[in-house]
Order: sequence, then C-alpha cells, then structure tokens
Amino acid sequence: MSSYWSDFVKDLDPYSPGEQPQISNITKLNTNENPYGPSPAVITAISEAADDRLRLYPPPEADQLKCKIAEYFQLSATQIFVGNGSDEVLAHIFNGLLSHPEKGPLLFPDISYSFYPVFCQLYGIHYEKIPLADDFSIDLDDFQRANGGIIFPNPNAPTGLLLGLDAIESVLQKNIDTVVVVDEAYIDFGGQTAASLIDQYDNLLVVQTMSKSRSLAGMRVGYAMGSEHLIEGLNRIKNSFNSYPLGHLQIAAAIAAFDDTQYFENTRQKVISERERVVDKLQSLGFEVLPSKSNFVLVRHPQNKTDLLAQSLREKGIIVRYFAMPRIDQFLRITIGTDAQNTLLIECLKQIL
Ligand SMILES: *Cc1c(COP(=O)(O)O)cnc(C)c1O
Repeated sequence: MSSYWSDFVKDLDPYSPGEQPQISNITKLNTNENPYGPSPAVITAISEAADDRLRLYPPPEADQLKCKIAEYFQLSATQIFVGNGSDEVLAHIFNGLLSHPEKGPLLFPDISYSFYPVFCQLYGIHYEKIPLADDFSIDLDDFQRANGGIIFPNPNAPTGLLLGLDAIESVLQKNIDTVVVVDEAYIDFGGQTAASLIDQYDNLLVVQTMSKSRSLAGMRVGYAMGSEHLIEGLNRIKNSFNSYPLGHLQIAAAIAAFDDTQYFENTRQKVISERERVVDKLQSLGFEVLPSKSNFVLVRHPQNKTDLLAQSLREKGIIVRYFAMPRIDQFLRITIGTDAQNTLLIECLKQIL
C-alpha cells in the first residue's frame, strides 16, 4: 500500500491527539474539553437550523458569525477569520503568514502546543524552539532575534502559565516586521485577551477556539482576529483550499454560544473555581502543581513515577494526558472536570498514593 504514497507523505510525522475512548463510564480528563455541555440555547439553534436548507451550501464567508465575533471583541467583521476548528485556522496561518525564510526561522517555545512543529513540517517552514525558563515561564527576551514569525499559546499549553498583556505588547513592538500569533485557546480561564491590541499592531494575530471555554469541541469552530491585511491573506489561502469550512449547523451553534453570555460566564467561573480547589487538594497530597490559568493543571509527584500514576488512574477509570517530551515527561496534565469528577480524581489519587 505505502508504495502509492508520495515521498512527502512517507516522511510526514502527524500530530496524535489525546484518545477519545468510545466508552461512557470513563472520567475523561485528558483532552481539555469543557466538562459542561454547551448552552441549551445552542442545542435549540442547531435543531432549528437542521432543515431543508441543508441542501444549500452555507454562506462561504459566514458573515453573520463574523459580525457576532466582531461585536463581542469590539472589532470590525473584516478583522475576523473563521475556520473548521482553530487547528485549521492555525494551518492557514502557518501556510500563509509564518513562512519567511529570508527573515529567519519561525520561533516558538520548546514546550508548547505539539501541533506547531507538525504544521511546520507540512508547509516546509524552518523553525527554532526557544527554551522556556527554568520555572517553565516563557521568557520573551529570548525571542529577540531575527525571525520569520513568532507563535505561542497564552496561557501556554501544556504548562498553563499565563503572560500579561504588557509582555505581549513589548514583543509586538520589537517585531513589527513579522507576524506575532497569540494562540488563546485557554484565555477565558483566567487571562486577558490581546484582541484589544489589534487596532494598534498590524502584525498581531489572535487565535481563539470554541472548543474549550464554549463547550463546542465537537462542533469544530475556531477564529483569528487581526488587521485587515492579515485577514485578507488568510482568506486568500482559505479560498484556495475550501470555500465552505463551516456548515450551517456550525454557524448556528457558534452564534448561539456567543449570544448566551450568561451560560458562558457561569460555566467558565465554575471551571476556574474548581481549578483552584483541585490545585489545593493536589498540593496537600504532595503534588507539585504549575500555576495554571487554564482548564488543566500540569503536575508531578516527587515520590511517584508519572507513568505508573497514569496507569493506576486508568485502572480506576480516569484518563489523563502524559507527554513523552523532554523536560515534562515527569508530569501529568489533568483537565479540570465537574466537581464530582474532580472529587473522584482526588479520592482515587489518595488511594493510589
Ligand atoms: C485545543 C487547542 C487548539 C485547537 O482547538 P480546536 O479549535 O479544537 O482545533 C489550538 N491551540 C491550542 C493551544 C489548544 O490547546
């Protein structure tokens, strides 16, 4: 079979997402999904959109959704790009905005979203990983070198550490000739979005997803916000690839999710307060916990082997994520669940330790 593959495909080393087991009696704390379902208004909107109109192609520019997002962030619709999950949005960004070999390599942290090097391989982008500081924070001074672009998640994944807007603003000022992408997949769990800086910095692109804080991982909606020039570049790529990345149901769901601000605030606050409770409990069990502003925590236990801990949890029906990456291979990444799930996690850890 593999003889049908091009040499390019033979050499690809694709991203492997956390597992999605098809059993329901499992406590799934491995892929940072929201433990709360989407707002009931979202379910209603999807049902109402599911009719005869599905025979028609969706609006190619998803204008209504772009207007909704623009309104929420006080931007204009021409500053918004939408796609099939932020992974797709990121793919177009890497392809269209981050490959500038004449200026230097693309820079991102050594411990970061593991999809970034995969996109680089897919699009032939030369990159350099910048090591995190010893305390796992991103030291943006280390990004001060010739580059063809800069990308980092804020809060970072899988560490959960947050950078302030002042730090981000200083990177933008020092790199006006290249694009700086802030991947804000987890920003709603305790950070301040850099979207407020877009009107000042033409080189800033902010990426967000509806998969985490808005409970819609199964719907696949992501977006980018930036200057009209950057957004136009992304539209050129998108319209050379797939004119209709979002279907009718995705658009309806996303608009309804933005409309139900009350539900969003409630669930987001519950995740944040549960995170603080879980951190407290884990620390009292002897875990070292990195300071997280996201919906997960990265932890290690000085007296226990990480792979054995993960295996013991799995035997009790709880799955968490482990990364076989230098520097963090002694850590477990645990997604914050509902209060009942978190209590179960703590009880199981007590038994295991
Ligand atoms: C989850 C995640 C994404 C991808 O989100 P989707 O919109 O579901 O594709 C992007 N970046 C980071 C850092 C993430 O953790």
